[in-house]
Amino acid sequence: MHITDIMQGDSPTFSFEFFPPKTPEAAETLYQTIRELEAYMPHFVSVTYGAGGSTRDLTHDLVERIQTTTKLDPIPHLTCVCHKHDEIDAILRRYAKTCIGNILALGGDPPHGCVYDKSADVFQRAIDLVKFIRKFNESGAHPDRRGFGIGVAGFPEGHPATPNRLVEMDHLKAKVDAGADYIVTQLFFDNRDFLDFRERCVLAGIHVPIIAGIMPITSMSGFKRIAELAGGARFPAKLLRALQRCENNREMVSRVGVHFALEQCHDLLDNDVAGIHFYTLNRSDATRTIFDSLGIPRRRDTQVPIA
Ligand SMILES: Cc1cc2nc3c(=O)[nH]c(=O)nc-3n(C[C@H](O)[C@H](O)[C@H](O)COP(=O)(O)OP(=O)(O)OC[C@H]3O[C@@H](n4cnc5c(N)ncnc54)[C@H](O)[C@@H]3O)c2cc1C
Repeated sequence: MHITDIMQGDSPTFSFEFFPPKTPEAAETLYQTIRELEAYMPHFVSVTYGAGGSTRDLTHDLVERIQTTTKLDPIPHLTCVCHKHDEIDAILRRYAKTCIGNILALGGDPPHGCVYDKSADVFQRAIDLVKFIRKFNESGAHPDRRGFGIGVAGFPEGHPATPNRLVEMDHLKAKVDAGADYIVTQLFFDNRDFLDFRERCVLAGIHVPIIAGIMPITSMSGFKRIAELAGGARFPAKLLRALQRCENNREMVSRVGVHFALEQCHDLLDNDVAGIHFYTLNRSDATRTIFDSLGIPRRRDTQVPIA
């Protein structure tokens, strides 16, 4: 379903993010997670895109599997890294054929373990992908006459590559003006950063829905990985204090992390957030606990198992 239709429904939206599994065991965990989360009927789920190599095919396969065997509405991520025009065109055609409604267009993380020269990329920035997808949309190759809905990333705490926050907002505005229909944010732990970002977007003339990215901390190792992966993520002292109190007790750490994310979600709902996007790390427990405690009725009572 086109994102415009999704967002016009009963706001706010709830969505879950998965990454393609690399081993049979990881795949089993993910499919179990999908089965458990499908019952919540999220407005959409999204699937990340690897920085290169074979994991990219895993993204396409997972997206198509979700699309054809579940009632979930998958949104694939797509990145600029190492892609040529004809490759992106082929991917878009493949997704259009399977009636995928939306794409999250991203700059992309650099690939690990190989020499990578960004300056050689045909698509230099996410905005180039947005423009390409828009052109594809105008060609009429998608079964929906509007073509793909297009999402882009936003960074409430700022993106490390653009320290000038005014200039960064210009870049975000340019992506939206080029055709983006919605923004999904990087994870954050202080809602004031999100709410201020949202206000700054309005001041900059950005009026598309902004979906808040939330990642519950469930372990100390996961917490340290977030600090590594989401470079620049700010951890409020309140959260750090609570984690320090129980850092040697796995279960307590998870409870503290989930409770913190739950409070963030309540506050976001009180502040009329357009949507909440859960970074699930392919596990369902934390997301389900939060969802169940938000008092949100399930959209539809469905328990369709994956074929
Ligand atoms: C919701 C979300 C999902 C993500 N999913 C994935 C994923 O699946 N796979 C993956 O590899 N990565 C993913 N990422 C990470 C993302 O690709 C990186 O953080 C990347 O560095 C930024 O992506 P972007 O789309 O904002 O890039 P861009 O919009 O290209 O911006 C990158 C940087 O370039 C700057 N910039 C933009 N335009 C200009 C210009 N004209 N001149 C100079 N500077 C400019 C921006 O301000 C920013 O600092 C995700 C991030 C988020 C928030």
